[in-house]
Amino acid sequence: GASHKENRVKLGPRMVKEAAYTYVRPDSFEKTELVGVSKAALRDLAIDPSTVETDDFKDTVAGKRIITLEEGQDPKDDDIYPWAQCYGGYQFGQWAGQLGDGRAISLFEATNPSTGIRYELQLKGGGKTPYSRFADGRAVVRSSIREFVVSEALNALGIPTTRALSLTLAPDAKVRRERTEPGAIVARFAQSWLRIGTFDLPRSRGDRATIRKLATYAAEEVFGGWDKLPAKMKSNDGDDLLNPSRGVGKNDLQGSDEFQENRFARLYREIARRNAKMVAYWQAYAFTNGVLNTDNTSIFGLSIDFGPFAFLDNFDPNYTPNHDDHMLRYSYKNQPSIIWWNLVRLGESLGELIGAGDRCDEREFEEEGVRQDFAQELVKRAETLIEQTGEEYKAVFMAEYKKLMTARLGLKQCKEGDFENLYSELLDTLEALELDFNHTFRRLSYLSTADLDTEEKRKQAAGVFFHHDGLSGLVGSEAEARKRLAAWLGQWRERIIEDWTDDGAAEARDEQRFQAMRAVNPKFVPRSWILDEVIERVEKKGEREILDRVMAMALEPFRENWGGDADEEERFCGDVPKFLRAMQCSCSS
Ligand code: AMP
Ligand code: MG
Ligand code: MG
Repeated sequence: GASHKENRVKLGPRMVKEAAYTYVRPDSFEKTELVGVSKAALRDLAIDPSTVETDDFKDTVAGKRIITLEEGQDPKDDDIYPWAQCYGGYQFGQWAGQLGDGRAISLFEATNPSTGIRYELQLKGGGKTPYSRFADGRAVVRSSIREFVVSEALNALGIPTTRALSLTLAPDAKVRRERTEPGAIVARFAQSWLRIGTFDLPRSRGDRATIRKLATYAAEEVFGGWDKLPAKMKSNDGDDLLNPSRGVGKNDLQGSDEFQENRFARLYREIARRNAKMVAYWQAYAFTNGVLNTDNTSIFGLSIDFGPFAFLDNFDPNYTPNHDDHMLRYSYKNQPSIIWWNLVRLGESLGELIGAGDRCDEREFEEEGVRQDFAQELVKRAETLIEQTGEEYKAVFMAEYKKLMTARLGLKQCKEGDFENLYSELLDTLEALELDFNHTFRRLSYLSTADLDTEEKRKQAAGVFFHHDGLSGLVGSEAEARKRLAAWLGQWRERIIEDWTDDGAAEARDEQRFQAMRAVNPKFVPRSWILDEVIERVEKKGEREILDRVMAMALEPFRENWGGDADEEERFCGDVPKFLRAMQCSCSS
């Protein structure tokens, strides 16, 4: 990192070279109000809930209290001093140069003593950093509410994500966007904030030493050691290495005769596998990130950077939540291929290291490595490995996606033909009839096999999937819609009976399946229209409890009710109002 004394720049972008972060102090605002804390975050960070009331806590998450040394001293290795990370990125497919944490400042790392998990806690909206470029380092209330709620909602759904501890309003922090708005600070945390963009930047400068340092740091510090990474692709004992549950075998760590299989290659594959799993969750729960630039793609396989994100309402594969995404680059259906596109950029950054094979461990590599032509030769050799990793990425994605969809449909296994006849056919039906994706799964979890045992009953049951204000996507009459859904329900019922046949009498079987399905199919999903209402009520009307109530629902999305205002809860879990569906965000956040 560069010295914090240098951090007095007022004039625009500054290039930070051969460094991955800079020490920087957050702004301190006189007037701040803590308006939201995630109970799940307190638990995971091992923070005693009673400390939330203390000034220490409030000041820390507002950026007013930093654990640090005397002003003017240079931080030493074991001192704690806030920092901002440096990275670059490809935005909408174009190289965008140096970016970095323009308004995020990390305060410290903390390890939960009972889980042993270490998190890096940072403030977003806490002021300018050397990476702010021409922007103000601040965040508006609306985007902060959205990030606070969705981070914790995704985590509660089991989706790998960065987290949010608290939301603090900072009315003094005047933020100029289309109009002047009050600011806010989200205290957020993650096991790692490294992004693919962290590697893109040194690559763009030919700074191979920094790439090597970063890759080594990622393996040793973020993933917990080289031995935690996946086994070699071709194992000596012929195991199926695409099996996600397979650990590292004894033979795998010994020297390989194949150049592809060195430890940096295993690091690359671990990053690809994690991202494959994450994006499988996104597809299975219809979450769209909206800005999948390489700087918004996590090395740890986390959902990261919540700008114009949204959950799909009606199932529409071409939906993008990003108002400015005219090419639909970041649409729902493109997410798996875009994440892979980003991972190829990472493979190229790591090219020299992974192409070197076993030689990356030898001194000879260090010497030869400084010769550009040799480095380029190694990068060429890495292409094969990147391709193989692409196959692995696809396999891990498909396995995870099938697993999640199988569970969401209340099945115990994915049989030959299920994917086409059940999964794809359901999606096609939802798309054609413009039906709500997440509601459909929850509503399936109330249908017993007896509810569906005749064609008449199935046509009757089909009605539960319609919007209360009627079908919108009309490819024909309501009768045709009922017929199509009934046909699908008939096939589904047969598969349900087949998979649950050993689980007692019909009613007991249904009951067990209901429980299993409701544990994976949320009743509550923070749709854009709900977040908009929360924003309106918190920001404009000065309400506070609404945020707590919605957070309670987001933290336990599988419940039937939450003990709050029952009508309001049902409204938030019911039909998305007709004119508030598939909203888009033009984010000046
Ligand atoms: P994003 O589109 O959210 O990934 O942001 C792209 C880059 O712009 C990142 O480096 C952000 O840190 C930076 N950035 C976005 N908004 C601001 C802001 N208000 N102040 C400073 N930097 C910002
Ligand atoms: Mg970003
Ligand atoms: Mg952002």
